[in-house]
Amino acid sequence: METPVTSKSSVLYANLGAIPPKIESANGNYLYLEDGRQIFDASGGAAVACIGHNNARVKKAVADQLDKISYCFSPWFSTAAYENLSQYLTASTNGEMERVFVVGSGAEAVEAAVKMARQYYLELPTPQPQRTRFIARDRSYHGNTIGSLSLSGHKARRMPFEPILSQQFSHVSPCYPYRGKLERENDEQYVARLAQEVEEEFQRVGPDTVCGFVAETVAGLTLGGVVAVPGYMKAMKAVCDRHGALFILDEVMAGMGRTGTLHAWEQEDVVPHLQTVAKGLGAGYAAIGALLVHKSVVDVFTTGSKAFMHFQTYHGHPLACAAAYEVQQVIKDEDLVANCAKMGKYLGQLLQERLGAHPNVGNIRGRGLLWGVELVKDKKTKEPYPAQDKVAPSIHAAGLNNFGVSLIPGGGVADGTNGDVVVITPAYNITEKDAGFIVERA
Ligand code: PLP
Repeated sequence: METPVTSKSSVLYANLGAIPPKIESANGNYLYLEDGRQIFDASGGAAVACIGHNNARVKKAVADQLDKISYCFSPWFSTAAYENLSQYLTASTNGEMERVFVVGSGAEAVEAAVKMARQYYLELPTPQPQRTRFIARDRSYHGNTIGSLSLSGHKARRMPFEPILSQQFSHVSPCYPYRGKLERENDEQYVARLAQEVEEEFQRVGPDTVCGFVAETVAGLTLGGVVAVPGYMKAMKAVCDRHGALFILDEVMAGMGRTGTLHAWEQEDVVPHLQTVAKGLGAGYAAIGALLVHKSVVDVFTTGSKAFMHFQTYHGHPLACAAAYEVQQVIKDEDLVANCAKMGKYLGQLLQERLGAHPNVGNIRGRGLLWGVELVKDKKTKEPYPAQDKVAPSIHAAGLNNFGVSLIPGGGVADGTNGDVVVITPAYNITEKDAGFIVERA
């Protein structure tokens, strides 16, 4: 329960008038609050804590790194920590992605992707400086910085800042079968219609002005676990290829094992030119995100200026890299991606069994351990709850206050363009018992 601010707090909380519940400690998949409550972390924070809390191996790796070097300025020095993590990531793509740029968050990875895409066209043997535009999708979430918010298609979050967002970004429909697919339309026809819409957007803005098309491989926070229909990603990449634009996948939430393969694109039969990852990369042991760059893009830089015109004081941070590297070794050694796929299927099945027939559950969808339960006022018409009802946020609060479980309030939230979605993203190491507990409390 949030406490009204009686004594003054210096923290600028999301709600300036209330202090959220205070966590004293966390262990495994449980959070222990100061007031004595024990909460099962079924959201892993914001889909982050994928190996649970207080992992001894990761703590040791960070301590060891502290003994070596805690900080250096990455443009001037390399470290084994940055090298090892990058090598692990590129190897995990069979070398398709050839270079890694480590930053401090998902939004920073998205910003780096946007700048890399733009610079790529300037570095080509015949530069294409007219390429300044990006096409993204409605109801997408790519972050809250000005560049990443410009890319985001989440109306409510954009609204207050609309006048200062970049006009170089435009949006098309997402692949969202529950609301987007027409009656009697099959997957193939749906994909063809969406590909046509993207093609028309390229034509509208000028096909040779587009740097890239950006999508979440599995749509996470704002659509809530929406998996594209088969063939969709391939069709989007084909439109990009036709116009020489880059195909950019934002896997900040869906990547690093969350959907049951290390990279979510592995299940889509496509390889992106640029890929962002973050949450599952460091599992919350460090503030870290990364941009993975395909060899075809790297080639242009290594034969061109050789400089990516982007750096940050903390990029390639040794402690963050060491933590993330060890997190990835834990995931590998404990075969957690396979467990994520297996438990994901089980969790999805339990959700369908328990909630599928509920009159206010419109749709249950997901992949791996990224699930969304979309809540509607009217199951038949799919009418969403009005934004002011704050249905998903109140389920989040009830989970914490009454049921000892943390869930993500996602979906339309104050947007009104789709239903509220309760998003479930537990750690990859959950058991059948944990899945049963989550569903019983959800
Ligand atoms: N991209 C996606 C797909 C996300 O889900 C998020 C965060 O939820 C971001 C980008 C932004 O990441 P961060 O909050 O670390 O800046």
